[in-house]
Amino acid sequence: MRVLMTLLEKRKAQQPAQDADVRRSLVETLYASPASLTIGAATGTAVGIVIANMADGKAIHAVVIVLCIVAALRVISAVFFHRQLMRGTAVASRNWELAYELGAWAYAGLLGLMGFVTLIGSSNSIIHMLSVSMATGYAGGISGRNAGRVQIAIGQVCLALLPTAMGLWLEGSTGYRVLSVAMVLMVLGLAEISSTTHRIVVQALIGKRDKSLLAEKFERLARFDSLTGLENRMAMQMRLREIFETTQKRNDAVAILWMDIDRFKEINDSLGHMVGDQLLRAVADRLNEVVQGRGRIARFGGDEFVIICPDTDRVTAASIAQEIISYFAHGFDLGEHHLQATASIGYAVAPQDGRDMDELMQHADLALYEAKGEGRNRASSFNWSLKERFNRLHEIETGLRRALSGGELMLLFQPIVALENGHIDACEALLRWHHPVLGPIPPSEFIPIAESMGMIEAMTDWVLRQACIAAASWPGEVRVAINISPASLKSTELPANVIAALLETGLPARRLELEVTESIFLDDSGQTNVILRELQRIGLRLALDDFGTGYSSLSYLRSYRFDTLKVDQSFMAGISANPEDRAIVRAIGNLARDLKMDTVAEGIETPDQLQHAREAGFTNVQGYLFSRPVPTERIAEMIAAGPLEGSERPDPVRRRRA
Ligand code: C2E
Ligand code: MG
Ligand code: MG
Repeated sequence: MRVLMTLLEKRKAQQPAQDADVRRSLVETLYASPASLTIGAATGTAVGIVIANMADGKAIHAVVIVLCIVAALRVISAVFFHRQLMRGTAVASRNWELAYELGAWAYAGLLGLMGFVTLIGSSNSIIHMLSVSMATGYAGGISGRNAGRVQIAIGQVCLALLPTAMGLWLEGSTGYRVLSVAMVLMVLGLAEISSTTHRIVVQALIGKRDKSLLAEKFERLARFDSLTGLENRMAMQMRLREIFETTQKRNDAVAILWMDIDRFKEINDSLGHMVGDQLLRAVADRLNEVVQGRGRIARFGGDEFVIICPDTDRVTAASIAQEIISYFAHGFDLGEHHLQATASIGYAVAPQDGRDMDELMQHADLALYEAKGEGRNRASSFNWSLKERFNRLHEIETGLRRALSGGELMLLFQPIVALENGHIDACEALLRWHHPVLGPIPPSEFIPIAESMGMIEAMTDWVLRQACIAAASWPGEVRVAINISPASLKSTELPANVIAALLETGLPARRLELEVTESIFLDDSGQTNVILRELQRIGLRLALDDFGTGYSSLSYLRSYRFDTLKVDQSFMAGISANPEDRAIVRAIGNLARDLKMDTVAEGIETPDQLQHAREAGFTNVQGYLFSRPVPTERIAEMIAAGPLEGSERPDPVRRRRA
């Protein structure tokens, strides 16, 4: 008995570790096999009826009747619960466990009682054999079957075997007494078997439970962004696919808003990633406040958020986007920092803007690109002209890589004429690209793209070499001028490339002029300054191109010694009709003369413009009046031919720098 108690106590101590799920599963095991329960009930009833028929005595009959009733009730309840279990509606509650427990104990107790009363009340050894075998067989089976709820199993074993053992002992014969002792030992053995089986079942169930908890956790991690708690890109795409499949069947509108925090990288870099993370969380909260039930928000990655709004047309999408942007204007309080972050949003609306999910996403992204390009802190809607522009941009980007290596680029030269005598003083090298599909693409379009792709340095190097090769074959001192974009001027390799080109072609440095625009002074980190001075040390000439349209601070004329000022052609275009343009051009002419710089009037197309350039005291002119940009063979012929038409009248007030 003591051993039994320890077993039960040990088991009780393990109980708190079992959570509700495990416990439910254990109760379910009790009802898992109604067949075995039915067999147990049927055999007990059959044996009972046989005993009742063979034996006299009210007590035996009464026990058999109650045994049959309990057996029937147990079979009914087991089948009923099992059906519920199969349908998935069963709730394996404490009540079901209790019902099973009472039924099981009652049935086992009645079998034990049947053994006791037959052993005491009858002398028929067949009846004894039937009742004792029934009790032992039942106890053996039940210790394994009900090990899921070990107290039921052990209780049943005790209730079936102990009264029978007592009956055997009281019967008094030696063989019966030996059997009685064996039966008590059997109780201990079966209790141990039940406990061990129980432990194994519990461990298996806990393992199963842990596995499913882990799977749940991984699924959550896979679907949600751990920083903001919003759905992540994968979940968003799945959701969008679902929405698209259902709404597009009905042809309903679906809007996608793609938002990006402006200059987030700068915030991250300057204030640290902790603040960056705080901002992302605050933005997620704010988006939840603004969007509310109108859409599903997901963090697409980095500082990008996507909002999917089912049943939303373009007008509503625009108003949601505007609300978000306005809401950003309140700024963000993040601990000691108050951040004035802004956002850009691009949106696209199905079915007009995209036939499938990927296309709609791509178009919302394009609209975002447009919003950023237009100056940020704004929302842009997708439209198909945007797509055409993007396609062209894409064609240019892919074509540019091929163009440089595939010989699609070409250099033309435009003469810069001395007003004094009509001779060509210099020729400006101008890049041309004939795209195999798109046709000629102007440099004003492809040069900024080459800059953004990081290809401009290679391109400048190519121009430099081609221009030096061409100029080396020109007679006399005619210079070649090449345009250097601000991005190239940041490259520390530029001076070395220039020297290499000069050495390879044998062109003297004084015959090479570099044209830079005022924009180089915009974000002057000191690097530009160093490179400009290095170039001047080599002996090159420097020209300030498109003067008057860019940064227009005169202070850099003081710190850099430019050899030439090229007045932007927009001033020359309006000079005949516009007194303001005339005044500006004259002032620049005077300024350059006093600073001892050469001056070039760009875009001279008419004799009248030429006349104004003369009157303003310009030293040189350039424009279609003299020549359009021409190929290298043609420019060599023009140089050899001498003074150009259009400047035959010598300028009496020529003031060239000495
Ligand atoms: P830019 O350096 O100011 O070059 C002068 C532009 O004015 C050229 O346009 C030229 O063809 C045009 N032009 C010359 N005379 C006249 C005229 O009388 N009337 C009119 N309407 N235009 C005239 P282009 O060749 O289209 O070049 C545009 C700009 O592209 C250039 O302006 C320059 O900034 C840039 N560019 C051209 N080639 C290169 C290059 O090799 N490298 C770099 N970085 N930029 C280049
Ligand atoms: Mg130029
Ligand atoms: Mg220019």
